[in-house]
Order: sequence, then C-alpha cells, then structure tokens
Amino acid sequence: MADASAWAWVEGRVLPAAEARIPLEDRGFLFAESVYEAILTGGGVAFTGGLHRARILRSAQGIGIDPARVETPLDAAIRDLLRASSGRDGLLYLQVTGGAGPRDHLPPEPGLEPRVYGTWRPYLRSGLASLRARGLNVMTVPDNRWALGTFKTTQLLGAVLAKRAARAAGAEDAIFVDDQGYLLEGSSTNLFFVRGGVAWTPPLTRNLLPGITRHVLLRRARDLVMERDLHVSELASAEELFFASTTRPCVPIHQVDRQPLGPGTMGPITTELARRFDQWMSEEMGPPGGAP
Ligand code: PMP
Repeated sequence: MADASAWAWVEGRVLPAAEARIPLEDRGFLFAESVYEAILTGGGVAFTGGLHRARILRSAQGIGIDPARVETPLDAAIRDLLRASSGRDGLLYLQVTGGAGPRDHLPPEPGLEPRVYGTWRPYLRSGLASLRARGLNVMTVPDNRWALGTFKTTQLLGAVLAKRAARAAGAEDAIFVDDQGYLLEGSSTNLFFVRGGVAWTPPLTRNLLPGITRHVLLRRARDLVMERDLHVSELASAEELFFASTTRPCVPIHQVDRQPLGPGTMGPITTELARRFDQWMSEEMGPPGGAP
C-alpha cells in the first residue's frame, strides 16, 4: 500500500485521505443528515469498538437511516482501516450519511442507499500527559444546540460556535448550560464534577451525548463515578472538575469563567480515574506509542 499520513475508506476502497471525494449531493453535506464516531486505535484494535459500533447504529436509526443497510459497509470500513493502521496508535473516524441524490428535503421513495465513510490518522495517546498536567480553562455558554443531542450527528455548528466564543474570551473550551441552569457537557466531551469523593456526571435525561468514555467510567469505576443533575450554582463548590471523551479521557479543568477552581493541579479523584482509564486502554490496545 502507498504511504500516507491519513487513510480514507470510500465505497469499499482504502486510499490516501487527501485523494478521497464525496458526492456533492450527499445528504450529509447538504442537510447534516449524518452520524459519526471517533475511536482510538492501537495494536490493530479499536478501543471499546463494540460500544462505538452500537452507538453509530443507534444514532443512524435515530435520524431515520436504516441500520441494517449500514452494518456490512461499516464493518468493512473498520476492518480495512484497522489493517491500514498497521498497529499504530491512531484515531478512526466513521461517518454514515443518508446517501446521495437530487437535493430535496425528503429523499425519494423507497429511500437512498446510506453511504459510509471512514478515515484513520495517527494520533498519539502520549500527548495526554502534558494536557493533564496543564489542565483546561473553560467558560460556560447557553446551550443553543438542537435538542437531539443523544444522537451523535454532524449537527455540530453549535459546538463549533461555542468553542470559538470560548477562544475569543481567552478560554479553551465551553461547558453548555441549559435554560434552567443545569450543566450538560463540554463542546466535545462529557463533564464530571467531584465532590465528597465522588465524580458526578449529568444524567442522560438532559440534552447531552451518551459518551462512550462516560459509559466506561460509570460501568467500570462504580465506586467513584455516579450520575446526578448538576446546577451551575454548584460549580464554585467543586473539589475537582474534569472532561472525559475519546481523545481526552480525564482531563482536569482548572478555571471556569475566569475563576480558579479545584486544587490547580489534577486532583486525587481525577488522577485515580485517569490512571485506571490509561490501564484499560493499555489492556486493550497495548501501551501508548503503538508499533512503528
Ligand atoms: N459530548 C459531546 C458533545 C461530544 O461531541 C463527545 C465526543 N464526540 C463526547 C461528549 C464524548 O463522547 P466519547 O466519550 O464517546 O468520545
């Protein structure tokens, strides 16, 4: 296979990502009628791959794409891109769209064939250590995204604008707060609030993504991680605060809305969860660094 820094999977073929093309009338492009996943890979394995696979099929169903028509190409994309990764540490991105056809809000009957795309590019887990050591400075923003946040769609403009507003205000990321003042999540991460020795994360009854990292923490660290509603008025009383996502598992937040928060370094609960999470990643994918 030719050398490339990033690979794409389109219509059953692996090719350098820079050469991949999508049809102009793809409904993902025209209407954001599409769902996606980002998955860590290492040692030729997709970390918690089964959970990501299940979530993208559920997200597809949630926006009217028949999962039964997606499974076979999706599995082929995962298999072929993992092979192209040659065991290296990387990020596998998958996207499923409602298909391509003449632009019309309603697709023609009996429906278009969904399209599956994927990319794989190198991504080093080893960068996490410096991010955790530094910690994040974030700001709260009103949640002006659409209401179906439970599905992982490419309806991401609200997240982009929030992150841009955060950057303009001298912060790095945003925490969405709903119109009743409940904390939801970061622009691309779930949120955890530590108090009394427990990391609390908002429940899925709120408008937020059921993150895989969140799910794994809740399931495998039952002694330390639980769900409850969190109100913006509680923020100041947080002993620790952290984000968790595929690419940012357990990254501490040291400042919210310009106010210092927590110990200023990674606190004991965040540190313990980060340690366990790194171990789970290594158990599945091998140690960070991957095969050259
Ligand atoms: N919330 C949002 C809004 C996200 O975009 C993401 C990451 N895609 C997450 C949470 C974290 O999800 P995961 O742990 O599956 O990466």
